Amino acid sequence: MLALTLYNFFLLLGTRDVTYLWYVMSMLSVSFVVMSFHGILAQYVWPEQPQFNNPVLVTAISSTIVAASLFAYTFLDLKRFSWLIRGAILGLSGCGALVFILNFFLPYEITIKLAAFFSVTGAAIGILTGCYLWYRGEILARFYTIAWFLLLSGSVTISFSHIGWLPSVMIFDYGQQIGAAAEGLLLSFALAYRMNMEKRARYEVQAELLNVQREANVELEARVRERTAELARANDKLLTMSLTDGLTKVSNRKFFDQRLLEEWKKGGRQTEMLSLIMIDGDHFKNINDNYGHLCGDAILKHMATLFQSSLCRSGDVVARYGGEEFAVILSNTDVQGAAIVAERMRKKVMGTPLSWEGKVIPVTISAGVAGLIPDMENDLNSLIHAADQALYKAKESGRNCVVVSSAENCGKEIVVRHGV
Ligand code: GH3
Ligand code: MG
Ligand code: MG
Repeated sequence: MLALTLYNFFLLLGTRDVTYLWYVMSMLSVSFVVMSFHGILAQYVWPEQPQFNNPVLVTAISSTIVAASLFAYTFLDLKRFSWLIRGAILGLSGCGALVFILNFFLPYEITIKLAAFFSVTGAAIGILTGCYLWYRGEILARFYTIAWFLLLSGSVTISFSHIGWLPSVMIFDYGQQIGAAAEGLLLSFALAYRMNMEKRARYEVQAELLNVQREANVELEARVRERTAELARANDKLLTMSLTDGLTKVSNRKFFDQRLLEEWKKGGRQTEMLSLIMIDGDHFKNINDNYGHLCGDAILKHMATLFQSSLCRSGDVVARYGGEEFAVILSNTDVQGAAIVAERMRKKVMGTPLSWEGKVIPVTISAGVAGLIPDMENDLNSLIHAADQALYKAKESGRNCVVVSSAENCGKEIVVRHGV
């Protein structure tokens, strides 16, 4: 028992778990009870002072009651259970403490009776609590109940042996020591088992936490991916919106400028001709004045659709240059090809008038076409200027026509194609 006490004392130092403290205390006090009963202390420790025997016995018993009930409280973790169980066990330890104190003031005849009474009551409460918790499925309660049973059997055996109900043989005479040692051993095992249980529970909680964290991470990653895709879509939409003309839905001036520069640079590497068509609605002011701005807007939309449908290559770009002016970029296309496209557009606009509030609105356009091979000698602005000049000429030439500014004589030699 002393070895077990020492072993658990070291565990107490290592773990700082108060359950080991109550275990060590109860093992020590039980050892004192056993030694007192058998006169070992009187014989070896204070042979000359027999007056110590009785108070030491009551002290040992009352200490056992206090330590054993507090051990039960922490070992079985009784704070989880009803106030009845907790109250009984804590009340018992209070009674043990009371006897311990009364031992200093009251005569032995009274205190030993009190100690005996609370021992028997405590044993009953202990075993009943153990059985109840065992019944409730508490694993540790099994160890506890069996340990109590071993101690009680030892005590009953020695009593029966003293009374004469059992033969006075060694195994019965030493019943109490054997019972107490067996109880201590079993509870020591139980403490180790409890430690393992707690460790396992800790691991399980950790694993559960890790799992929760992993799931949360997966969810978060999915959310982030979703949001990133949403943002990318929103960005694309914004970019498209920022480069699209709100009224006609063709590209806007910003896109036109970017694209023309890109094509110019690209063209410089490929030595292919880059052509530009500048288009302007004829007498548009009159249309607004006669039919209203809403009608003018509808015609602008209509014209944009017609221009778009006149293009064959996916790389060609129609842009609203400003007001009722449009510009068309045709990469890898010479002026002759561009003039054909411009003429196709002019004819389409003229041949497809828009109906507005029951009236057919005749519309025509003028177009200036220019083409240049982008190289070091040429400059992008000269292309725009040439197309502008051609457009100006088209207006001058009576409108509803396409004027081509030849590459060689940019803006000087003008070919005028009048519509029908
Ligand atoms: P022309 O080009 O044949 O010389 O005559 P024009 O009447 O078209 O003259 P100009 O190009 O100087 O005037 C452009 C007019 O186009 C001015 C304005 O009333 C109209 N306009 C410009 N932008 C818009 C627009 O977004 N919506 C509408 N409804 N009209 C516009
Ligand atoms: Mg104009
Ligand atoms: Mg105009």
